[in-house]
Amino acid sequence: MDYEGRFNEAIGRLKAEGNYRVFADLERQAGNFPHATYHGSQQQADAAALGDEVAVWCSNDYLGMGQHPAVIAAMVEAVQRCGAGAGGTRNISGTHRYHTLLERELADLHRKSAALLFTSGYVSNQATLSTLGKLMPDAVFLSDELNHASMIHGIRESRCEKRVFRHNDLAHLEELLRAVPVTRPKVIAFESVYSMDGDIAPIAAICDLADRFGAMTYLDEVHAVGMYGPRGGGVAERDGVLDRVTIIEGTLAKAYGTVGGYIAGSRALVDAIRSFAPGFIFTTALPPVMAAGALASVRHLKQSQVERDAQQERAATLKRKLADAGLPVMPSVSHIVPVLVGDPVLCKQATDDLMSRHRIYVQPINFPTVPKGTERLRLTPSPVHSDVLMDRLVAALSDIWGRLDIRIAA
Ligand code: PLP
Repeated sequence: MDYEGRFNEAIGRLKAEGNYRVFADLERQAGNFPHATYHGSQQQADAAALGDEVAVWCSNDYLGMGQHPAVIAAMVEAVQRCGAGAGGTRNISGTHRYHTLLERELADLHRKSAALLFTSGYVSNQATLSTLGKLMPDAVFLSDELNHASMIHGIRESRCEKRVFRHNDLAHLEELLRAVPVTRPKVIAFESVYSMDGDIAPIAAICDLADRFGAMTYLDEVHAVGMYGPRGGGVAERDGVLDRVTIIEGTLAKAYGTVGGYIAGSRALVDAIRSFAPGFIFTTALPPVMAAGALASVRHLKQSQVERDAQQERAATLKRKLADAGLPVMPSVSHIVPVLVGDPVLCKQATDDLMSRHRIYVQPINFPTVPKGTERLRLTPSPVHSDVLMDRLVAALSDIWGRLDIRIAA
């Protein structure tokens, strides 16, 4: 059997479709974000020659919390006190004081009675949704068509019936809910901030429908926690509807600058997931050092509005500068700034040129992450992306747009 041939064939197909991913080898510089040292990409022969400083414009460390002194100090202290790893699953010696404190903090953040940590946001979605289905095999999942892969994975694994509603389309969701028998459990699964377009779900209106049809709501706030609401509790907090959402899911890896995922909900629900989800039970707990860093980050952003305000100002400024330069910035009501290219090859070429000519790093966003014809650059300005960096970015994009004649393709 030619195993290597099989693998190479699969990779060959990806390459032919233009969907083969090449990683940029970066060394982040604590204290100097958004700058990083670029060690080239695995595929570039000239990688060594490009070992240089780049400005990163596509990080999900939205607020720069990955280098915040309080977060770093908490982690240094924790690693010296507790060592490197958790030493076990949560059930077998792996529950550390920091996990307990962090879960308490997250429950409070979302005004829920309990919270549960997972090793990533992906795992929290996949494990929770699939386990909900195992606990309620007669459930029907109503899933927004643009939900993240981790939610789709969880719902598929639940083996329950699934109905997909058009993105943020309340009328369609209502139509689908109406068709489900009253006696069956229903779970509406959706996100608050959709990270590729930067649009935001009508959470209150979805909760109204959930109330009318007796459904639970499962809200992924991965791109919103830390970013919205007076304490960083997400869009549900900003909109004053925390108590109306049944389960809130979040990550510690984006605005909080560390790693890990979680859910927050009622005590019974969290206890059930804790007790039945294989993705929670059969894996080593997050290292205490990560829980300590996340705890410091969540606590800081609960009482500090400075980072959120600065980030919103930076995002508005960047959108304005791009529009003033005639660049096709896409409408976004959130902190995410997408710029349309509209062609996968040009999108990749544009980002290659940004790196090689301007030392600016942006990853191209192509199909299947976004629909064909809407390939784009997804820019994520943070509080520390200065006017100087923005002006450089806009000038570089204008140069590349002209050079590649992108407007014509779009
Ligand atoms: N949910 C959404 C909407 C996401 O975009 C992502 C990751 O980008 C995740 C969940 C997974 O979160 P994590 O990166 O913490 O695994």
